[in-house]
Amino acid sequence: DVTVVGSTNVDVTATVPRLPGRGETLLGTSLLSSPGGKGANQALAASRGGASVRFVGAVGNDDAAPTALSHLQADGVDLSAVLTREGVPTGTALIWVEDSAENSIVVVPGANGSITAQDVDRVAERGGLEGVVLLQGEIPAEAVTRVAERAPGRVVVNLAPVIEVPPRVLTAADPLIVNEHEGAEALRILGGDPKGASEEEVVVALLAAGVPSVVMTLGARGALVADDSGVRATPAARVRAVDTTGAGDAFVGAAAARLAEGADLGAAASYAARFAAGAVLRAGTQSSYPLRGAELPELIA
Ligand code: ADP
Repeated sequence: DVTVVGSTNVDVTATVPRLPGRGETLLGTSLLSSPGGKGANQALAASRGGASVRFVGAVGNDDAAPTALSHLQADGVDLSAVLTREGVPTGTALIWVEDSAENSIVVVPGANGSITAQDVDRVAERGGLEGVVLLQGEIPAEAVTRVAERAPGRVVVNLAPVIEVPPRVLTAADPLIVNEHEGAEALRILGGDPKGASEEEVVVALLAAGVPSVVMTLGARGALVADDSGVRATPAARVRAVDTTGAGDAFVGAAAARLAEGADLGAAASYAARFAAGAVLRAGTQSSYPLRGAELPELIA
């Protein structure tokens, strides 16, 4: 099983010819509301990757909440531990896409920002942190920290976006999953100096600082996988990328699904790279994730 404790949003995307200036009103050309948030994205990816998934998060008592959770619900993810907050909106990302394809985004955390360490304690007391527990940086650091402290099993941390967690969260992460930028920031949190270090040197330094295992994703270049048996490269699949939004979340969720089945880290990362490659073939975030059992692109040999 996989338990994701994290964010859920509605992404409201408007296409506009250009951004309005201050005080200006502009007509947009299309509008779309779709479920998002790193926690929910990763929970859906884990479920599509074959895991039985529980999602722990918070929404407002508003019309956006069912939209935020709609794909998780349809996929059979256990939502019984999702909190509903009065007087706080469901997390919302307001996204403007210009004709030039440039994005401008405002994220209002809303209910995601209301999750406390006490909420985590209540979930833990009911046995709600079972299985592989997956964390990201879109809920308060105090909640992330308490999950890492109380989870009885394996903890996977995706430090995205980077938040200031105590070092013990990172040294509990097996694996810590980061991109280049997040890896450098994680090393800084652990007291290291990433300046001038190569990607591989950052990964090695993270292990030396006490992180049990690390996966560093490198976009179309694949990923580095590291644990006490060394650092190795996992290739990406060669695909014609249409939209890489949500590829990182697809990778993390799919990796957690395989780890929950008992796969070793290398096998989990290879599967995750294939699943993420499947997700870049289509536009959208959650809507681009391959269905359970779908054929996935092969990795470059
Ligand atoms: P993030 O968005 O978090 O920086 P990445 O861009 O590193 O994440 O993407 C995560 C994973 O998705 C990569 O490790 C790779 O496996 C896969 N991926 C992303 N972009 C591509 C691409 N253009 N072609 C094939 N695989 C990709």
